[in-house]
Amino acid sequence: MKSLTFFLTATLSLFIFSCSNQSTVTEKESTVVKSKIDSSKVSEPAKTPATAAEIMAKKEVPVLCYHHIRNVASTRELKNEYEVSVTEFKSQLKALADSGYKSITPDQLYNYLVFGGSLPEKPFLITYDDTDQEQFSVAKPEMDKYGFKGVYFIMTISIGRPNYMTKEQIKQLSDEGHVIASHTWDHSRVDRYTYEHAIEEGGKKKVVNDWDQQLVKTKTKLEGIIGKPVDYFAYPFGIWSKSGIPEIEKRGYKMAFQLATKRDSLQPLYTVRRVIVAPQWSADGLLKVMRSSFK
Ligand SMILES: [Zn+2]
Repeated sequence: MKSLTFFLTATLSLFIFSCSNQSTVTEKESTVVKSKIDSSKVSEPAKTPATAAEIMAKKEVPVLCYHHIRNVASTRELKNEYEVSVTEFKSQLKALADSGYKSITPDQLYNYLVFGGSLPEKPFLITYDDTDQEQFSVAKPEMDKYGFKGVYFIMTISIGRPNYMTKEQIKQLSDEGHVIASHTWDHSRVDRYTYEHAIEEGGKKKVVNDWDQQLVKTKTKLEGIIGKPVDYFAYPFGIWSKSGIPEIEKRGYKMAFQLATKRDSLQPLYTVRRVIVAPQWSADGLLKVMRSSFK
């Protein structure tokens, strides 16, 4: 719209200029008008998608990954590397806000990587895997304090089960600007998918194509819940495979998130790196990792 307005204005002024003083339009003056039009084009974001090499050369945006946020008295009570305490989680979010970090969405990340879109000065993504209840009851109110928006990677088999989020909560997250994305149907590893797999779903035995079962059915289900497109995916256990990337791409996902292994230099959009926030990290430790792990 902006460029159209400028074009019309420029055309109109050219027209008036030519009409009022046609004989004195010199080549130099018409060049000035032309160069103004050209420079307006330059200021718009590039519309040609970046190549894989260009994406790899861009500064990486830190992406955090949380699973369970446990209400424990001490971090010693945490059972594994997928847990953080509520106290630590709260102090980490506060430290991020105090340090000027601004959460961005996967759409913003995609636009930055592919089309050179602008980002806030200290961008990061905060992501949650596996549909856990406390990601709604604890993480959401905490993010609300600082205006952060999260990305929720949902495994659809667990929706509505005890200790997992309900579809109403998932819808509410989406309505409030958080992003809902796919984390497969039952959390099985992408590198083991086959085209004919005997499974049991809802008490019924059937043969499915894993790629459709894990990627298409979940996308459709989540889109039905939130009424918006689901464009992003996270690999269960962070495990990705080179041969799986085209399968994900052709099923309509724009980017896929792994964990902290090296990106595929030819497919950086389908191997976006994340770090799992470890139970023993302090808020300062987290900020250090964000600076050192994302180059
Ligand atoms: Zn997971």
